[in-house]
Amino acid sequence: SAPILTVRDLRVAFETRAGSLPAIDGVSFEIGRGEILGVVGESGAGKSVTGSAVIGLLDPPGRIVGGEIHLGTERIDTLPPERMRRVRGRRIGMIFQDPLTSLDPLYRVGEQIVETIRTHTDLSARAARNRAVDLLAEVGIPAPERRIDGYPHEFSGGMRQRVVIALALAAEPELIIADEPTTALDVSVQAQVITLLKRLCRDHGTAVMLVTHDMGVIAEAADRVAVMYSGRIAEIGPIESVVRNPRHPYAIGLMGAIPTLTQGAGRLAQIPGSMPRLTAIPPGCAFHPRCPKVFGRCRVERPEPIPVGTEPGGIGTDPARIGTSAVACHLYDADAAGGAAPHAEPL
Ligand code: SF4
Ligand code: MG
Repeated sequence: SAPILTVRDLRVAFETRAGSLPAIDGVSFEIGRGEILGVVGESGAGKSVTGSAVIGLLDPPGRIVGGEIHLGTERIDTLPPERMRRVRGRRIGMIFQDPLTSLDPLYRVGEQIVETIRTHTDLSARAARNRAVDLLAEVGIPAPERRIDGYPHEFSGGMRQRVVIALALAAEPELIIADEPTTALDVSVQAQVITLLKRLCRDHGTAVMLVTHDMGVIAEAADRVAVMYSGRIAEIGPIESVVRNPRHPYAIGLMGAIPTLTQGAGRLAQIPGSMPRLTAIPPGCAFHPRCPKVFGRCRVERPEPIPVGTEPGGIGTDPARIGTSAVACHLYDADAAGGAAPHAEPL
């Protein structure tokens, strides 16, 4: 079926006194109905900026300078702010690290969910309240018919994030952008919240862009993974391919150790060096100063995404298509070596 979210060659620049800095530089991906795309990478890779661009909430001085974003069949990156505000409320749900970004501390949680439901449906006040109770039950809030009248501060961190998930689902959005949704939670409740998010989105057919630096969360929840580095996608593909059999040297480094959620927070494996600053992105492959496999071409020519593999879930040859794997690394470019691809043996 047609993708819910299509991002094509997205480019975001930060306009600064130092000039126009490329925060996102040619990012393409799709997310299908009921599918969770995990977007992972170190701090500064451009994960959150990509999510903010999709929802039309880029912080200044960020600005979309190229590419297209489509929600279903509608192009949304060119919508006027007022139209985009309605798209956000009705068709895109948002879950952030801090539940209090989404919840107003001055209103009972039920009022907030009921208001969202009534804004987006024709339900009566009574029917909307019943629906809100159902949603709270669905996200695992005990005694929802009583807790619906509680204020956000009366809920624990984990319960509050469940309320946010209920709120995000209240308008029955096609897409949810979840940015570090469990990072602020106790390790013991992270897995519960991720499992809940995964189940609900599958049940409701909601597409999810799950932004996190936590490989444990990705391994637990995502159907597909995009590994970002320095404003580009280094590797994208089905979870079983990218996590168990990563190809890009950066992805291989990241997957070095993936503790499961139940064992504790899955921080990214240490790769010597750090993400380049926007003012000093290396020429060629931005990862080359840190790459154990660097060779001559890497220092001068930027690698473009190359379709790879025919593992389960792999279809077609368009790097951005659902189910397809792609890797932006010269090691996998057969043309470079006259079709022989001598470097492309398993790393
Ligand atoms: Fe490493 Fe070169 Fe591949 Fe970049 S293109 S990841 S430097 S081998
Ligand atoms: Mg972030």
